Amino acid sequence: MKEINTIAHSKFDAPKTITILGSTGSVGCSTLDLIGQNPDAYDVVALTANRNVALLAEQAKIFRAQHAIIADETCYQDLKDALAGTAIKVSAGTDALNEAAELPSEWVMASIVGAAGLRPTLSAIRRGVTVALANKECLVCAGDLMMQEVKDHKSTLLPVDSEHNAIFQIFDFERPDSVQNITLTASGGPFINYSLDEMKTVTPRQAVAHPNWDMGAKISVDSATMMNKGLEMIEAYHLFPLTENQIEIIVHPQSIIHSMVTYRDGSVLAQLGIPDMRIPISYTLGWPNRLETSTKKLNLTDFGRLDFLTPDMTRFPALLCAREALHMGGTAPIILNAANEVAVFAFLQGQIPFLDIAHTVEKTLLHIDAEPLTCLEMLHATDREARIVAQNIIDKL
Ligand code: NDP
Repeated sequence: MKEINTIAHSKFDAPKTITILGSTGSVGCSTLDLIGQNPDAYDVVALTANRNVALLAEQAKIFRAQHAIIADETCYQDLKDALAGTAIKVSAGTDALNEAAELPSEWVMASIVGAAGLRPTLSAIRRGVTVALANKECLVCAGDLMMQEVKDHKSTLLPVDSEHNAIFQIFDFERPDSVQNITLTASGGPFINYSLDEMKTVTPRQAVAHPNWDMGAKISVDSATMMNKGLEMIEAYHLFPLTENQIEIIVHPQSIIHSMVTYRDGSVLAQLGIPDMRIPISYTLGWPNRLETSTKKLNLTDFGRLDFLTPDMTRFPALLCAREALHMGGTAPIILNAANEVAVFAFLQGQIPFLDIAHTVEKTLLHIDAEPLTCLEMLHATDREARIVAQNIIDKL
């Protein structure tokens, strides 16, 4: 059994100074929307993006950020020009991104997509501050190392992903032995009712059109393959004191129940809400208090019924790959994540059909032997190797 308290329960007030890593993304914009509902309560220290100069500059001006950082160095001059005449400090590059995470702020939203978010997220954790973690790929790749850093630096890690945020709200951390298992709910994505034959020809446009959630492209495709739920299973394993067999997945197409904890006495606690990321984000922004927000409130009679299904592993084999990677442990989740990032990108570029995303991940996992993960250098080396292998598999398809 893993140690309890890896995600802390301390007694901070709502934060004042804020950094958002990935402010131009879906989670970043929702976070700024909440901050905008009570702007006097927060000082924005730093906002970051990858290439979206126009939106980053606009956000930095509206929220009077002290720093605006763009990861892609070729965008530096454009950002500098866009912020000319303001006092906002501009910088660019991956080192600058990391330095953004090191700037003094009490609360950091880690919402960069993919493994690119790992280094800055770790830098924020090492400052011992509160980190709201949206970037699930970080935990998938570096779960044990990251949770050790959280502990060593007395950082507070608050899960943003709606399912983990739900579990965080209902899990009895004082009595983890009283928990029988947790159930992560999955919407099933846009292809939940498609046959395998129909799934062969779906387009990127169809895959990113999620029925319930408005999200970035990568996570939307992950939802469509159900790899998202696989990544979340690994994320849950690291966040909560659970064994892999205590994490179950159920398809719940309406996305109203965000997750459930089953206790040994047969009681099941669930957290419900409309599918709007501003709800879990506001929980992390206000924690341990709850913020008054303008998000729509749940009215169950609007839905009438809630449905639940067992996930179909034949149509969604990505779930099996993720379960296998969790079981293998060590570097296996890094291989899984890297191959998935490469395959999702190739699908979005129109290079491979939808079903080949999971095939690529499966083949990459078979091609590289997983080893115990001992350090971050090993993580980066495995990530690089898996990306090359996955790309080779795609090139041969
Ligand atoms: P988006 O694609 O909408 O946004 C990603 C953000 O990261 C953008 O600010 C983007 O900048 C930046 N970014 C992308 N690549 C890099 C890079 N290489 N270096 C630095 N910055 C980069 O993603 P989402 O907001 O949807 O998701 C963010 C994370 O949160 C993901 O890990 C996702 O799985 C997780 N998550 C998202 C949810 C959602 O509802 N969207 C729900 C739960 C978890 P730019 O705009 O310039 O490209």
